Amino acid sequence: MTMRTQHIVVTGGGSGIGRAIARLLISRGARVSLLGRSADKLQAVASELGTAGSGQVRCFACDVSREAQVQEVFATLARDGGAITGLVNNAGVNPSRTAIGDTSAADWEQTIAVNLTGAFHCVHAALPLFVNGGSIVNMASIAGLTALPERCAYMASKWGLVGLTKSLAIDYAARQIRVNCVCPGYVETPLVAGYLHQLPDPDRQAIVDAHLLGRLGAPEDIAHAVCFLLSDEAAWITGAVLPVDGGYTVGKML
Ligand code: NAD
Repeated sequence: MTMRTQHIVVTGGGSGIGRAIARLLISRGARVSLLGRSADKLQAVASELGTAGSGQVRCFACDVSREAQVQEVFATLARDGGAITGLVNNAGVNPSRTAIGDTSAADWEQTIAVNLTGAFHCVHAALPLFVNGGSIVNMASIAGLTALPERCAYMASKWGLVGLTKSLAIDYAARQIRVNCVCPGYVETPLVAGYLHQLPDPDRQAIVDAHLLGRLGAPEDIAHAVCFLLSDEAAWITGAVLPVDGGYTVGKML
Protein backbone atom coordinates (compact mmCIF):
# COMPACT_ATOMS: atom_id res chain seq x y z
CA MET A 1 0.00 0.00 0.00
CA THR A 2 1.64 3.25 -1.07
CA MET A 3 0.88 6.51 0.74
CA ARG A 4 3.08 8.77 -1.38
CA THR A 5 0.48 11.48 -1.80
CA GLN A 6 -0.24 11.68 1.93
CA HIS A 7 0.95 14.17 4.53
CA ILE A 8 0.14 12.92 8.02
CA VAL A 9 0.54 14.69 11.37
CA VAL A 10 1.27 12.34 14.29
CA THR A 11 1.25 13.57 17.88
CA GLY A 12 3.38 11.85 20.51
CA GLY A 13 5.62 10.61 17.71
CA GLY A 14 8.80 10.37 19.79
CA SER A 15 8.27 6.94 21.31
CA GLY A 16 6.21 3.78 21.55
CA ILE A 17 3.15 3.52 19.32
CA GLY A 18 3.65 6.98 17.75
CA ARG A 19 7.17 6.09 16.66
CA ALA A 20 5.92 2.81 15.12
CA ILE A 21 3.22 4.73 13.22
CA ALA A 22 5.82 7.19 11.93
CA ARG A 23 8.10 4.35 10.84
CA LEU A 24 5.32 2.56 8.93
CA LEU A 25 4.03 5.74 7.27
CA ILE A 26 7.53 6.62 6.11
CA SER A 27 8.16 3.14 4.75
CA ARG A 28 5.01 3.62 2.67
CA GLY A 29 6.23 6.93 1.28
CA ALA A 30 4.06 9.37 3.25
CA ARG A 31 5.33 12.73 4.43
CA VAL A 32 5.07 12.93 8.21
CA SER A 33 5.01 15.81 10.67
CA LEU A 34 5.78 14.66 14.19
CA LEU A 35 4.67 16.57 17.28
CA GLY A 36 5.90 15.87 20.79
CA ARG A 37 7.14 17.53 23.92
CA SER A 38 10.81 16.82 23.28
CA ALA A 39 12.42 18.02 20.05
CA ASP A 40 15.45 15.82 20.77
CA LYS A 41 13.34 12.66 20.99
CA LEU A 42 11.59 13.53 17.71
CA GLN A 43 14.88 14.26 15.94
CA ALA A 44 16.23 10.93 17.19
CA VAL A 45 13.24 9.19 15.57
CA ALA A 46 13.83 11.07 12.30
CA SER A 47 17.51 10.05 12.36
CA GLU A 48 16.68 6.46 13.23
CA LEU A 49 14.33 6.37 10.23
CA GLY A 50 17.10 7.65 8.01
CA THR A 51 15.03 10.63 6.98
CA ALA A 52 16.73 13.48 8.86
CA GLY A 53 17.21 16.38 6.44
CA SER A 54 15.22 14.67 3.64
CA GLY A 55 12.10 16.76 4.09
CA GLN A 56 10.03 13.60 4.46
CA VAL A 57 9.83 14.11 8.22
CA ARG A 58 9.41 17.37 10.08
CA CYS A 59 9.63 17.60 13.85
CA PHE A 60 7.84 20.12 16.05
CA ALA A 61 8.33 20.48 19.79
CA CYS A 62 4.77 21.02 20.97
CA ASP A 63 2.76 20.32 24.09
CA VAL A 64 -0.65 19.35 22.69
CA SER A 65 -2.39 20.53 25.85
CA ARG A 66 -1.26 24.10 25.04
CA GLU A 67 -3.59 25.64 22.49
CA ALA A 68 -1.16 28.38 21.41
CA GLN A 69 1.65 25.89 20.75
CA VAL A 70 -0.65 23.67 18.68
CA GLN A 71 -1.93 26.64 16.66
CA GLU A 72 1.63 27.75 15.98
CA VAL A 73 2.60 24.35 14.55
CA PHE A 74 -0.39 24.17 12.22
CA ALA A 75 0.09 27.83 11.20
CA THR A 76 3.67 26.93 10.23
CA LEU A 77 2.44 23.96 8.19
CA ALA A 78 -0.17 26.17 6.50
CA ARG A 79 2.42 28.86 5.70
CA ASP A 80 4.61 26.25 4.06
CA GLY A 81 1.74 25.28 1.77
CA GLY A 82 1.14 22.20 3.83
CA ALA A 83 -2.24 20.73 3.12
CA ILE A 84 -2.58 17.61 5.21
CA THR A 85 -4.39 14.36 4.50
CA GLY A 86 -4.29 12.83 7.97
CA LEU A 87 -3.96 13.47 11.69
CA VAL A 88 -3.23 10.90 14.38
CA ASN A 89 -4.07 12.07 17.89
CA ASN A 90 -1.76 9.66 19.65
CA ALA A 91 -0.12 11.70 22.46
CA GLY A 92 -1.20 10.40 25.83
CA VAL A 93 -0.30 10.21 29.51
CA ASN A 94 -1.43 8.25 32.52
CA PRO A 95 0.08 9.93 35.60
CA SER A 96 -2.06 8.10 38.16
CA ARG A 97 -3.30 4.54 38.37
CA THR A 98 -5.79 5.29 41.09
CA ALA A 99 -9.45 5.33 42.06
CA ILE A 100 -10.99 8.78 42.38
CA GLY A 101 -10.38 9.02 46.14
CA ASP A 102 -6.63 8.86 45.53
CA THR A 103 -6.53 10.91 42.34
CA SER A 104 -5.28 14.48 42.72
CA ALA A 105 -7.03 17.25 40.82
CA ALA A 106 -3.67 17.99 39.16
CA ASP A 107 -3.38 14.44 37.79
CA TRP A 108 -7.00 14.51 36.63
CA GLU A 109 -6.48 17.83 34.85
CA GLN A 110 -3.23 16.76 33.20
CA THR A 111 -4.78 13.53 31.92
CA ILE A 112 -7.84 15.23 30.44
CA ALA A 113 -5.74 18.14 29.12
CA VAL A 114 -3.35 15.91 27.16
CA ASN A 115 -5.48 12.90 26.18
CA LEU A 116 -8.75 14.65 25.37
CA THR A 117 -8.31 18.42 25.12
CA GLY A 118 -5.05 17.85 23.23
CA ALA A 119 -7.03 16.04 20.53
CA PHE A 120 -9.56 18.89 20.51
CA HIS A 121 -6.80 21.48 20.00
CA CYS A 122 -5.16 19.48 17.20
CA VAL A 123 -8.37 18.81 15.28
CA HIS A 124 -9.45 22.43 15.70
CA ALA A 125 -6.16 23.73 14.29
CA ALA A 126 -5.89 21.03 11.60
CA LEU A 127 -9.34 21.38 10.02
CA PRO A 128 -8.45 24.23 7.63
CA LEU A 129 -5.52 22.18 6.32
CA PHE A 130 -7.77 19.31 5.20
CA VAL A 131 -8.39 20.90 1.81
CA ASN A 132 -9.55 17.75 0.05
CA GLY A 133 -11.03 15.49 2.73
CA GLY A 134 -8.84 13.25 4.84
CA SER A 135 -8.65 10.94 7.81
CA ILE A 136 -8.32 11.50 11.54
CA VAL A 137 -7.44 8.63 13.88
CA ASN A 138 -7.80 9.05 17.63
CA MET A 139 -5.82 6.77 19.93
CA ALA A 140 -8.23 5.64 22.63
CA SER A 141 -7.75 2.39 24.59
CA ILE A 142 -9.49 -0.67 25.93
CA ALA A 143 -9.94 1.77 28.84
CA GLY A 144 -12.36 3.63 26.52
CA LEU A 145 -14.40 0.51 25.78
CA THR A 146 -14.60 -1.24 29.11
CA ALA A 147 -13.65 -0.69 32.76
CA LEU A 148 -10.18 -1.14 34.23
CA PRO A 149 -9.69 -0.77 37.98
CA GLU A 150 -7.98 2.35 39.32
CA ARG A 151 -7.83 4.29 36.05
CA CYS A 152 -10.32 7.03 36.94
CA ALA A 153 -8.84 9.93 34.96
CA TYR A 154 -7.41 7.82 32.14
CA MET A 155 -10.73 6.02 31.57
CA ALA A 156 -12.66 9.29 31.54
CA SER A 157 -10.25 10.72 28.97
CA LYS A 158 -10.43 7.67 26.69
CA TRP A 159 -14.23 7.28 26.84
CA GLY A 160 -14.30 11.01 26.02
CA LEU A 161 -12.10 10.41 23.00
CA VAL A 162 -14.47 7.73 21.74
CA GLY A 163 -17.34 10.22 22.03
CA LEU A 164 -15.31 12.94 20.33
CA THR A 165 -14.58 10.52 17.47
CA LYS A 166 -18.26 9.94 16.82
CA SER A 167 -19.08 13.63 17.14
CA LEU A 168 -16.40 14.58 14.60
CA ALA A 169 -17.44 11.77 12.25
CA ILE A 170 -20.97 13.08 12.04
CA ASP A 171 -20.01 16.76 11.81
CA TYR A 172 -17.31 16.46 9.12
CA ALA A 173 -18.55 13.65 6.86
CA ALA A 174 -19.86 16.26 4.42
CA ARG A 175 -16.27 17.49 3.99
CA GLN A 176 -15.14 13.88 3.41
CA ILE A 177 -13.08 13.93 6.59
CA ARG A 178 -13.28 10.44 8.07
CA VAL A 179 -12.78 10.12 11.82
CA ASN A 180 -12.09 6.82 13.53
CA CYS A 181 -10.70 5.56 16.76
CA VAL A 182 -8.32 2.73 17.66
CA CYS A 183 -8.48 1.06 21.07
CA PRO A 184 -5.28 -0.82 21.91
CA GLY A 185 -4.94 -3.49 24.55
CA TYR A 186 -1.73 -3.60 26.59
CA VAL A 187 1.28 -2.73 24.44
CA GLU A 188 4.78 -2.73 25.89
CA THR A 189 5.85 0.90 25.55
CA PRO A 190 7.36 3.40 28.00
CA LEU A 191 3.78 4.25 29.10
CA VAL A 192 3.13 0.83 30.63
CA ALA A 193 6.51 -0.93 30.84
CA GLY A 194 7.28 0.36 34.35
CA TYR A 195 3.84 -0.62 35.61
CA LEU A 196 3.96 -4.10 34.09
CA HIS A 197 7.47 -4.84 35.33
CA GLN A 198 6.75 -3.94 38.95
CA LEU A 199 3.83 -6.40 39.07
CA PRO A 200 4.36 -9.81 40.64
CA ASP A 201 4.72 -12.48 37.92
CA PRO A 202 1.23 -14.01 38.39
CA ASP A 203 -0.45 -10.59 38.06
CA ARG A 204 1.56 -9.76 34.96
CA GLN A 205 0.72 -13.17 33.48
CA ALA A 206 -2.99 -12.58 34.23
CA ILE A 207 -2.83 -9.43 32.12
CA VAL A 208 -1.13 -11.30 29.27
CA ASP A 209 -3.74 -14.07 29.53
CA ALA A 210 -6.60 -11.57 29.35
CA HIS A 211 -5.60 -11.06 25.70
CA LEU A 212 -7.17 -14.06 23.93
CA LEU A 213 -4.30 -14.27 21.47
CA GLY A 214 -1.92 -14.95 24.35
CA ARG A 215 0.52 -12.06 24.16
CA LEU A 216 0.83 -8.34 24.73
CA GLY A 217 0.68 -6.07 21.71
CA ALA A 218 3.66 -4.70 19.83
CA PRO A 219 3.60 -1.04 18.73
CA GLU A 220 3.54 -2.30 15.12
CA ASP A 221 0.23 -4.12 15.74
CA ILE A 222 -1.36 -0.76 16.45
CA ALA A 223 0.52 1.07 13.69
CA HIS A 224 -0.86 -1.27 11.01
CA ALA A 225 -4.45 -0.60 12.09
CA VAL A 226 -3.83 3.15 12.14
CA CYS A 227 -2.23 3.13 8.68
CA PHE A 228 -5.18 1.19 7.31
CA LEU A 229 -7.62 3.78 8.69
CA LEU A 230 -5.49 6.59 7.22
CA SER A 231 -5.35 4.93 3.81
CA ASP A 232 -7.75 4.99 0.88
CA GLU A 233 -8.51 1.34 1.61
CA ALA A 234 -10.64 2.63 4.50
CA ALA A 235 -12.43 5.15 2.25
CA TRP A 236 -15.90 4.08 3.43
CA ILE A 237 -15.13 3.82 7.15
CA THR A 238 -15.97 6.64 9.51
CA GLY A 239 -17.10 6.79 13.14
CA ALA A 240 -15.65 3.33 13.79
CA VAL A 241 -14.21 2.35 17.16
CA LEU A 242 -11.75 -0.45 16.48
CA PRO A 243 -10.36 -2.63 19.27
CA VAL A 244 -6.80 -3.71 18.46
CA ASP A 245 -6.36 -5.71 21.60
CA GLY A 246 -5.65 -9.39 20.92
CA GLY A 247 -9.21 -10.13 21.98
CA TYR A 248 -9.08 -8.43 25.40
CA THR A 249 -12.53 -6.85 25.10
CA VAL A 250 -14.25 -9.91 23.61
CA GLY A 251 -15.07 -10.96 27.15
CA LYS A 252 -13.54 -14.12 28.53
CA MET A 253 -15.82 -16.26 30.67
CA LEU A 254 -13.93 -18.55 33.04
P1 NAD B 1 4.50 6.49 25.11
O1 NAD B 1 4.66 7.08 26.45
O2 NAD B 1 5.63 5.74 24.51
O3 NAD B 1 4.02 7.57 24.06
C1 NAD B 1 3.24 8.68 24.39
C2 NAD B 1 3.84 9.85 23.66
O4 NAD B 1 3.03 11.01 23.92
C3 NAD B 1 5.26 10.17 24.16
O5 NAD B 1 6.11 10.33 23.06
C4 NAD B 1 5.07 11.47 24.92
O6 NAD B 1 6.22 12.30 24.89
C5 NAD B 1 3.91 12.09 24.17
N1 NAD B 1 3.23 13.11 24.96
C6 NAD B 1 2.83 13.01 26.24
N2 NAD B 1 2.30 14.18 26.65
C7 NAD B 1 2.36 15.01 25.59
C8 NAD B 1 1.98 16.35 25.39
N3 NAD B 1 1.43 17.08 26.37
N4 NAD B 1 2.19 16.92 24.17
C9 NAD B 1 2.76 16.20 23.18
N5 NAD B 1 3.17 14.92 23.31
C10 NAD B 1 2.96 14.34 24.51
O7 NAD B 1 3.23 5.52 25.23
P2 NAD B 1 2.40 4.75 24.12
O8 NAD B 1 1.96 3.51 24.77
O9 NAD B 1 3.10 4.71 22.83
O10 NAD B 1 1.10 5.69 24.03
C11 NAD B 1 0.60 6.21 22.82
C12 NAD B 1 -0.92 6.28 22.93
O11 NAD B 1 -1.45 4.96 23.01
C13 NAD B 1 -1.43 7.02 24.16
O12 NAD B 1 -2.53 7.82 23.81
C14 NAD B 1 -1.88 5.89 25.07
O13 NAD B 1 -2.88 6.29 25.96
C15 NAD B 1 -2.38 4.90 24.04
N6 NAD B 1 -2.48 3.55 24.55
C16 NAD B 1 -1.37 2.87 24.94
C17 NAD B 1 -1.53 1.57 25.42
C18 NAD B 1 -0.36 0.75 25.88
O14 NAD B 1 -0.57 -0.32 26.46
N7 NAD B 1 0.88 1.18 25.64
C19 NAD B 1 -2.80 0.97 25.49
C20 NAD B 1 -3.88 1.71 25.07
C21 NAD B 1 -3.73 2.99 24.60
